[in-house]
Amino acid sequence: EQLSNKIAAGEVVERPASVVKELVENSIDAGSTSIRIDVEEGGLSLIRVLDNGNGIEAEDVETAFYRHATSKIRHDRDLFRIVTLGFRGEALPSIASVSKLALKTSDGKAKGHEIRLEGGKIVHKGSAAARKGTEIAVSELFYNTPARLKYLRTIHTELGHISDVVNRMAIAHPEIAFHLTHNGKMLLQTTGNGDLLRVIAAIYGTQTAKKMLPISAESLDFQVGGYIAKPEVTRSNRSYMSTIINGRYIRNYPLMKAIQEGYHTLLPIGKYPVAVLQIKMDPILIDVNVHPSKLEVRISKEQALQQLVTEGIKKLFQQTRL
Ligand code: ADP
Ligand code: MG
Repeated sequence: EQLSNKIAAGEVVERPASVVKELVENSIDAGSTSIRIDVEEGGLSLIRVLDNGNGIEAEDVETAFYRHATSKIRHDRDLFRIVTLGFRGEALPSIASVSKLALKTSDGKAKGHEIRLEGGKIVHKGSAAARKGTEIAVSELFYNTPARLKYLRTIHTELGHISDVVNRMAIAHPEIAFHLTHNGKMLLQTTGNGDLLRVIAAIYGTQTAKKMLPISAESLDFQVGGYIAKPEVTRSNRSYMSTIINGRYIRNYPLMKAIQEGYHTLLPIGKYPVAVLQIKMDPILIDVNVHPSKLEVRISKEQALQQLVTEGIKKLFQQTRL
């Protein structure tokens, strides 16, 4: 058990940013409307995620650290209709196996509960305050896996990855208020009022946000919303194209291609647009169980979706005088 958790950690917990991603996903799945993330030294000395979600019930606090213990999938058939961000039940045990972890949680009604683990072993269990939500603090990540620690880059690089993760989560969830600090310095704050354009402004700046156009396209299977930048707002890499499917940020080259094709000849060579696409579809049409990081997905009717995106963007530029 201890060993298999450490092996799984190799896949799930590549770097501090992977911890942030898994913890924030859990907070989102718990129905939080406000998520606060504080990191220190690029996440190597501390990653703390505080949410106001449903909390974990007393009898589940310990089981949450057992491998493949998930509260999110009850039947085999659920695997084909995944509506939560998590479902594999390996993040908490993996993270706990390579760090010192403290968790406090409460449903806000009864008293709260606290558990602490070191290298995956429980070192403390007790009660805590009844503040609704969950707080998880991960200290000294990889303290017991020196090889992994050595492979990490500078604090600056690790922080960059963490920032990317939180930005993506904020873009995917404008209805949640995000707050990110590093060594006490505020890096991102969103209001959670549901306005995607305001989130875009918080991340890419108000000048860019002012040059974004709302997009909407629909077919029987797909609904596409979000914002795309006017062709004059370009970047020299692809990472400013975000695609969100059913609230999950995904990486999908065919969709990026489809966005670029929508701009047709309007983009200079080697330049890429800023775009945030919010796509909704029946979860049965998407397979997220492709890789433990859940960043890559398989989409049925992918070509039809690509075409819808490309045509939607083309039509928008025909209607808008640039
Ligand atoms: P998964 O998300 O795949 O179910 P995890 O290992 O990430 O597995 O989490 C294990 C379980 O712990 C979750 O299924 C959930 O019940 C509980 N949990 C983890 N984090 C939170 C949180 N922030 N709020 C409420 N419940 C949580
Ligand atoms: Mg999870």
